[in-house]
Amino acid sequence: MNQEEQEQESSATLIDKNFPLFSKPRKPKPYKSPKPSQNPEPQTPQIEKFSSSSAAAAAEEETTTAFADLGLAEWAIQTCKELGMRKPTPVQTHCTPKILAGRDVLGIAHTGSGKTAAFALPILNRLAEDPYGVFALVITPTRELAFQLAEQFRALGSCLHLKCSVVVGGMDMITQAKALASRPHVVVATPGRLKVLLEENPDIPKVFQRTKFLVLDEADRVLDVGFEEELRVVFQCLPKNRQTLLFSATMTSDLQTLLELSANKAYFYEAYEGFRTVETLKQQYIFIPRTVKDAYLVHILSKMEDMNIRSAIIFVSRCRDCHVLSLLLEELEVEAAALHSLKSQALRLSALQHFKSGCVSILLATDVANRGLDIPTVDLVINYDLPRYSRDYVHRVGRTARAGRGGLAVSFVTENDVDLVHEIEAELGKELEKFECKENEVLSDFTKVCKAKRVATMKMMDDGFEEKVKERKKQKLKTLAEKGVLKKRSKKRKREKSDKNPDQ
Ligand code: AMP
Repeated sequence: MNQEEQEQESSATLIDKNFPLFSKPRKPKPYKSPKPSQNPEPQTPQIEKFSSSSAAAAAEEETTTAFADLGLAEWAIQTCKELGMRKPTPVQTHCTPKILAGRDVLGIAHTGSGKTAAFALPILNRLAEDPYGVFALVITPTRELAFQLAEQFRALGSCLHLKCSVVVGGMDMITQAKALASRPHVVVATPGRLKVLLEENPDIPKVFQRTKFLVLDEADRVLDVGFEEELRVVFQCLPKNRQTLLFSATMTSDLQTLLELSANKAYFYEAYEGFRTVETLKQQYIFIPRTVKDAYLVHILSKMEDMNIRSAIIFVSRCRDCHVLSLLLEELEVEAAALHSLKSQALRLSALQHFKSGCVSILLATDVANRGLDIPTVDLVINYDLPRYSRDYVHRVGRTARAGRGGLAVSFVTENDVDLVHEIEAELGKELEKFECKENEVLSDFTKVCKAKRVATMKMMDDGFEEKVKERKKQKLKTLAEKGVLKKRSKKRKREKSDKNPDQ
């Protein structure tokens, strides 16, 4: 599901009385940690909380703790060494031993901080002691993340001959059902496809009868974008005595609620409070009219080599714009891959693979790529469009400056985005710097870029993309109508209208 779909769905009021977590308004509320002076104790005695907002404390832990101190088996310690992981990161230092001890864990740590290994290592450690399938189910919001997580599980579990299956939309369902029936040790899934398989194939729910671990990766996103129905179905198939692990870069009240529902004594690790980006990330903006965005984009991309930028991700809000930009760059003979949800899954994976392997150094993407993707060569993120929510800004720019490396994020700000950029700055607690570039140089190619844009737009009219967009819209309205959301929405609108105009 892409950002546009998710936004539409998240704005709906879906209430499922049977599932306590979701029996409240769907709009994600920002989570506020209690101030230390107000209430230093966790609200629920069942939750042990560790909060670290100090970078110095984190760095200190990083230098003094070794993988051998975490309670992991020798093979796991050796695997980390072979993968070049010399010391555990703070989220690993804190969460891995708690997971090994049988606790439910909520881990909030910034993107690129090693969250995946923090939960994969203890899961694999437990699996090695008592191997069976399906031992762990990992749910993640996007298909690309599912494949990335499975790769990481396979790398960390290489010496266990780990069987790991990916269950996502857009791929053959019969093959996936067969893979599940063979009971892999670990299943990584997106919620929609898993729900369909669980409901349509009576043999599949049994596969998860003894599942020991449920992980919600990018948990805030999984919880806030209309996956409640899917999650309810999944939760029903899992045993009550499982361990639940929630990992996320941002905290929301939904996560707090889920933590409080935890069956085991829960551990809550919070590496920082609120939104944060890493110190090694340079964050800049260019204030420009909408009409010259393309010229600025082409100019910056032409300077990548001079700026020592190995590869760049350009975030665009809509699939249509992503497609037209890819045609524009093609017209200008700039090689780029494009990733959006109106592509088939096979094309999405191949675009990502092209980019990851260095065949192309530019990736145009919608927010399907904003979370968790870990590509070390990404030195630049461009927000061609600013995201609507500041939380998505943090995720997008987190595609660069990972694992202690440097990186640059440049946001295009138009006259319509001023409030949005102030909101982002307020959340980050700092101002974006101005990106310096020579306007006359940018505009010298303006005519060429405009011409290429016209050609790109015409090509898009011919290649059937607009039809795909229309078909998607129709499909979306149908789904919303089936869920009864449209009715609720129009009732809400009527109510709001009559509140404003009581005479009508
Ligand atoms: P993640 O936050 O899980 O996406 O991880 C970000 C990147 O950090 C991945 O490329 C991991 O392989 C890498 N990584 C995770 N843990 C460590 C570690 N302890 N030492 C070095 N790199 C790590």
